[in-house]
Amino acid sequence: MVGAMKQNLYALLQSRFPADRSRPCFLFPDGRSTSYGELELGVSCMAAHLRATGVGPGDRVLVQAPKSTEMIMLYLACLQTGAIFAPLNTAYTPAEVSYFVGDAEPALIVTDAAAEMAAASGLDPDPRIHEARSGDTASLIYTSGTTGRSKGAMLTHGNLAANGLALTEAWGFTGDDVLLHALPVFHVHGLFVALHCSLLSGSAMVWLGKYEDDPIIEGLARSTVMMGVPTFYTRLLDNPRFTKESAAHMRLFVCGSAPLLPSTFEAFEDRTGQRILERYGMSEAVIITSNPLKGMRIAGSVGYPLPGVDLRIGGGEETGVIQIKGPSVFSEYWRMPEKTREEFTADGYFITGDVGRQDPDGRVWISGRAKDLIISGGYNVYPKEIELILDEMEGVTESAVIGCPHKDFGEAVIAVIAGAGDEAAVIAAARQQLAVFKAPKRVFFVDDLPRNAMGKVQKNVLREAYKDVFSG
Ligand code: AMP
Repeated sequence: MVGAMKQNLYALLQSRFPADRSRPCFLFPDGRSTSYGELELGVSCMAAHLRATGVGPGDRVLVQAPKSTEMIMLYLACLQTGAIFAPLNTAYTPAEVSYFVGDAEPALIVTDAAAEMAAASGLDPDPRIHEARSGDTASLIYTSGTTGRSKGAMLTHGNLAANGLALTEAWGFTGDDVLLHALPVFHVHGLFVALHCSLLSGSAMVWLGKYEDDPIIEGLARSTVMMGVPTFYTRLLDNPRFTKESAAHMRLFVCGSAPLLPSTFEAFEDRTGQRILERYGMSEAVIITSNPLKGMRIAGSVGYPLPGVDLRIGGGEETGVIQIKGPSVFSEYWRMPEKTREEFTADGYFITGDVGRQDPDGRVWISGRAKDLIISGGYNVYPKEIELILDEMEGVTESAVIGCPHKDFGEAVIAVIAGAGDEAAVIAAARQQLAVFKAPKRVFFVDDLPRNAMGKVQKNVLREAYKDVFSG
């Protein structure tokens, strides 16, 4: 029984809290802080509150709430009591939320974690930890679902523990680190990757509600590690106040959730002398590959599979869909046995949907999502190959290449470019470097590419906006 209790992720996290519980866990911009002791007390009051409300092991707690430390206490209390924490993107509209309510059938819906804490803080703290098995579901993470219904990836206590421990080791976290935390906490990046590295090393976090230039630049001066999405880095580089000195206290900049442009990687190194460590992950498996802490971090590569991750390229070609197996890979989608079956191979590998290749030494390169593959006149076109060429052109900040319905070719390649330039000149320049079926047939200039909260370019939005280009 003791063994089972130890499989509860909260028991593992708590065993790594600093012995001196007066040490800070959260540091706020105004100088206030929350200690590990206060965190632990908050979690056990919240656990008492969940139990008093009738929320039990396996029950879903659906949360759509602003980022707060109380939300973290609620997450940890769900782990502690065996309930399943199901966070939702704060951007979802009521109509979208009603789908998740119907799908998750939650025992409790939380829209304001601080209000729950106010109710919980009057109760006697309840430190009892539910005897979870490592295969018990800890969290239900809804995928962003750009096509079709959003799926709930069921991540277990064991999945999250394995990934947290692997990352803490791979990225060299110690109790002396201070993590600059400005990511949302409804997504795996901010909720699991960042939070677990801090809690498992008993270190502190500078806690910001969201990315804002000035608090970030000030936060860097008292932090050692930042985890961000690519837009954090482009925004920092756009700010002349971000200098080599601003980054001098930092030992590590981590980036992921969307591809980091090589130009951003290079500009960051020029400005700060530091190389961003890019890693690759997804809701269904948390982190899969990472560039090394010690050793070469290469622009455009997502590094090597984490220890214990078995990665292969499907389809028998050099480039194909990445398949993975490993201790952090989820085993099913919530109440969607068909989808689960479709996305695993017969021998148990999860089909990520990301297209990539792997060097003989194991290093992985991602060239895009399989569903973004364009088939033009029967030829496969990988948008990334074209985007890399366009991104080098004068006046181009960034590009997105998509396929649009075309009566002769099935799909034809178009490019949407953030920046300014001349359509005919871009097409002519692209044709000098690319086979004619790969070069864009039309080019459109915009101020910014549409992105979601994690900084991912929303190609589905672009495909919709430009769908009539060749039929109008
Ligand atoms: P999500 O489940 O919302 O975290 O999205 C996961 C997807 O983000 C992956 O399947 C990839 O397509 C993409 N992604 C995450 N990290 C990277 C990266 N470093 N480079 C390229 N794509 C990434």
